[in-house]
Amino acid sequence: MHFETFRQVAKAELHVHLEGSFSVNRALALAGEKPDHPWNGLAPQALERRLVPGNFEQFIEQFMLGYRLLKTKEHFQKVTEDLCAEFERQGVIYAEVLYSPGVYVQKLHRDLVDIHEGIEAGLRQFPKLRVSFILDTVLNLGYPFMNKTLELVLADQRAWLSGFSVGGGRPDLAMDEFLPLFEQAQKAGLQLVAHVGEVDGTDNIRTLLENTDLHRIAHGCAAADDLALCRELRDRQVAVDVCLSSNLFTGVMPDLSLHPLMTFLELGVPVTLNTDDPFYFKTNLYEEYCLAEKLGVSWDKLLEVMAYGLEFR
Ligand SMILES: [Zn+2]
Repeated sequence: MHFETFRQVAKAELHVHLEGSFSVNRALALAGEKPDHPWNGLAPQALERRLVPGNFEQFIEQFMLGYRLLKTKEHFQKVTEDLCAEFERQGVIYAEVLYSPGVYVQKLHRDLVDIHEGIEAGLRQFPKLRVSFILDTVLNLGYPFMNKTLELVLADQRAWLSGFSVGGGRPDLAMDEFLPLFEQAQKAGLQLVAHVGEVDGTDNIRTLLENTDLHRIAHGCAAADDLALCRELRDRQVAVDVCLSSNLFTGVMPDLSLHPLMTFLELGVPVTLNTDDPFYFKTNLYEEYCLAEKLGVSWDKLLEVMAYGLEFR
């Protein structure tokens, strides 16, 4: 697949984290403002060498290093602009971006209004792009913390906020206790997305399907082993946001050849292709489509995936 052929087809990106999408140069510029940051003064290659695959916990540690680089309204504006410029470069005309303001606001004592103003100023520079945001809350921080984050964001709810998500998690963390959050988000008019079937099994996917109007599943790899569940996803048109490089980098999938993308497609499960945290995984949307092609997905099928993603506009 040639990049130019790929770029010319209008498409969506529906799963990318604002705090995981820096360019290397932006990360180094931000680290340059923080003398005590471990990335301060590194050469680009030296920073890239530090971003190494491992397990999920190791990834979260790296993610938090980058997370702490964003402090001011201007920082949020710049990374939003960088991401929008990358969307344009990839032929993306519609995007849903996850952001995780909970730790900024509750632990690092930053101003949520500043974060929102920064994002909004960034979006204003790209009037032709349609971009909305999904509030991502961190399961490992517990229900009260997540609930407070949701309340704070709803108290400053912006027009570009379209969804609510939960992320992080552990294999043994059950979704039941978090259901009131989904209910509250749904009442506020937000679409529901969840990182489930990534580090956990299929129970949490089932819990959300039974109790909420789940819109899409992030990763959902575990679902592929359960034929009945895949049929349900197909029949209810709950899409799986597939992020191939992410699953390799965080150890969710030990090998690309074991990834269930083809299984999902063969069973008619709706699928989108996405980058998740492209800075850490050293990828971009074109690379993700190339990986899907390597797994055996035909160009015609990839065109269907691109067209399908745009239906979420
Ligand atoms: Zn994600």
